[in-house]
Amino acid sequence: SKPVLEIRNLNVEYGLGDQAVRAVRDVNLTLHRGEVLGLAGESGSGKSTLAYGMTRLLPPPGVITGGQVLYHPEQGEAYDVLGLSDRDLRAFRWAETAIVFQGAMNSLNPVHKISTQLTDVLRAHRPEMSEAACNDRAREMLKLVGIAADRMDAYPHQLSGGMRQRVMIGMALILQPQVVIMDEPTTALDVVMQRQILSQLIELRERLGFSVVFITHDLSLLVEFSNRIAIMYGGRIVEEAPAAAIYRDSLHPYSKGLLGSFPALRGPRRELTGIPGSPPDLKGMPSGCSFHPRCPKAFDPCSGNIPVLGRPDTPDGPTRSVACWLHPTEQPVG
Ligand code: ATP
Ligand code: SF4
Ligand code: MG
Repeated sequence: SKPVLEIRNLNVEYGLGDQAVRAVRDVNLTLHRGEVLGLAGESGSGKSTLAYGMTRLLPPPGVITGGQVLYHPEQGEAYDVLGLSDRDLRAFRWAETAIVFQGAMNSLNPVHKISTQLTDVLRAHRPEMSEAACNDRAREMLKLVGIAADRMDAYPHQLSGGMRQRVMIGMALILQPQVVIMDEPTTALDVVMQRQILSQLIELRERLGFSVVFITHDLSLLVEFSNRIAIMYGGRIVEEAPAAAIYRDSLHPYSKGLLGSFPALRGPRRELTGIPGSPPDLKGMPSGCSFHPRCPKAFDPCSGNIPVLGRPDTPDGPTRSVACWLHPTEQPVG
């Protein structure tokens, strides 16, 4: 299917000069229309930085130091999000690509009713809509995310965490964006709640037709709910493949390690092994493959040369990519 968002050689750093931390490194990633793309990786691997970078919401001292984020609108030519003016960017963020951040449920304004917070978004972006139409649309969105009509006039503190998160999803969807990015509610919500919210989002996607980027530590959730999964390590995408392929035969030793860190949902019970060692220090990255000090499969070339993300020489090669010296690649991705 067609791409909706194409990230090309994206680089993001925090700080300047000697002090700079390269948090996203040469990332190439394509989101296709209607798909759910899962993004996984240990804490600090750069998942949120990638999400903030591609929507230009990086908090200081974050800076994009290179790359492109090509967006394909439903109609018209593709354009580079990184080249938008501030004004166009504000419109882009809600109407084309919406984000629900880590702990977003706590960003609701405590002094306003939830219905008002939804209509405020409409008033700001759709000045041509009547008051009545705004109210109808807000009610419709809240209903869509499972908030009963009698809760519309509640204040955020009167709702549970899960309900507040659903309000945020309703708010993200209210302008009918093509892309919805959800950044890791794992830490904020329990896993049961997260599963409910994710399955609800996917049901909505089937009705409304948007694409989803879902970011979480929990690979088992991604295996269950996403079409494709990209795995990050030390700021780079190290593997990207259909969810079933990641689950059944991931090629990168780090992906295998991550899979071993979560209980399997179905099928044979896996032993929980985890990954020995700790994530790399971005200021003093190991040479070559940055995973090599922790990799059980490391061999000669690993410490000297950085493996480039490319299509593996396997029958399903065209559908996936990997950056590992164990898997010679045909052509680089991007
Ligand atoms: P988590 O799973 O914990 O959310 P993550 O994969 O989202 O982790 P990021 O938050 O993107 O990781 O962080 C990537 C790297 O960038 C980390 O090493 C982090 O310390 C660094 N970093 C993040 N935000 C800042 C900041 N504001 N200033 C400096 N460094 C930062
Ligand atoms: Fe392990 Fe080498 Fe592959 Fe890196 S390149 S994941 S060290 S085998
Ligand atoms: Mg994060």
